[in-house]
Amino acid sequence: MVQDEPYLETAPPEFYRGRFAPSPTGPLHFGSLVSALGSYLDAKSLGGEWLVRIEDLDQDRNQPGADSEILRCLEGFGLWWDGEVVYQTHRQELYEFAFESLRQMGLVYPCGCTRSEAASTYSGRCRAGLGNGKKERSFRYKINESIVIFNDFIQGKISQDPAFGSGDFVVKRADGPFAYQLAVVVDDYHQGMTRIVRGVDLMESTPRQILLQRSLGYPQIQYAHLPIARNANGEKLSKQTRAPAVMPNPDTLLAALEFLGLESPPAEEKNITEIIKFSIQHFDVKRISKK
Ligand code: GLU
Repeated sequence: MVQDEPYLETAPPEFYRGRFAPSPTGPLHFGSLVSALGSYLDAKSLGGEWLVRIEDLDQDRNQPGADSEILRCLEGFGLWWDGEVVYQTHRQELYEFAFESLRQMGLVYPCGCTRSEAASTYSGRCRAGLGNGKKERSFRYKINESIVIFNDFIQGKISQDPAFGSGDFVVKRADGPFAYQLAVVVDDYHQGMTRIVRGVDLMESTPRQILLQRSLGYPQIQYAHLPIARNANGEKLSKQTRAPAVMPNPDTLLAALEFLGLESPPAEEKNITEIIKFSIQHFDVKRISKK
C-alpha cells in the first residue's frame, strides 16, 4: 500500500450519514470504543446522522448477548445513535440480490479450493473453472483492476493493488453465508452512508469494497481510517488478544479522546454528557494522528 501525501482537501458530504458497525463477538473494548467515538464525533460535528449496525453474519463468532451489551455500553458513553439498529442477519435478500447481479455480470466465480489451498493470497486457480472432482466451496469476486486510489480524510491519498494480500476474494460461502466484504458494501449503500470512519486495520479492505461499489453501480463513499489501539505487546486490541471490556466512565472516555489526539475538555466538565458535548463542538479530524 502506498501512502502519498497528506490529507487532500475534500468537502464533507452535504448530507452526512455515518455508522459504527460492531461484530457482536464480545463486549466493547477500548479499541472499539475509539472507533465508535471517532465515527460519532466526525458525524455529529458535521451535523450528520450516526447509525449502528450489528455485523452478526459470522454465526460461529457471535457471542450471545454481546449485541445488547455493546448497545448499553454505547448509551453509557453518551453515544446515542439515530434510527433503528440494523442486524445483518435480517438482510439476506439484499445480499442475495447484489450477489446475483455480480454473477450475471460474470464478476464472481465458484471456487473449489480449501482454506489451506487458497493460502493468504489467492492465486486465481479456479478462475478458469473448477478442477476435476472439485466441489464448490465459495464464490470469489474476480479482480480486474491493478490499482485503486482513494482519498482518506485521515491517512491521505492511498493507492493500493486491490488484490494485495487477498487476491480474488470470497463474497459468499457455498454453504450459505455472505462474506463481510459484500455485506458491508451492500449495507452501506442501502443505508445511505456517505462517510465511513473506522479503524485503519480495515483500510486493506477498502479498495476491495470500492471495486464492489463500482461493479454494483453504487456511489463511492468517503473514508477516514482511525489509528488503532494496541496492547503492551503491540497487538491490536480485540477479542483474540483478550482486550478487557470497557465500562462507561468519564476517565475512559477522556482516554479515548486523548488516544485520538483530540482536545480534552476543561477539568470542570466532568460528566459524560458534558465531555461529549464539548468534543462535538471542538472536533477536528486533522488532529487525529495517522496509523
Ligand atoms: N464489523 C467490523 C468489525 O467489527 C467493522 C466493519 C466496518 O466498519 O466496516 O471489525
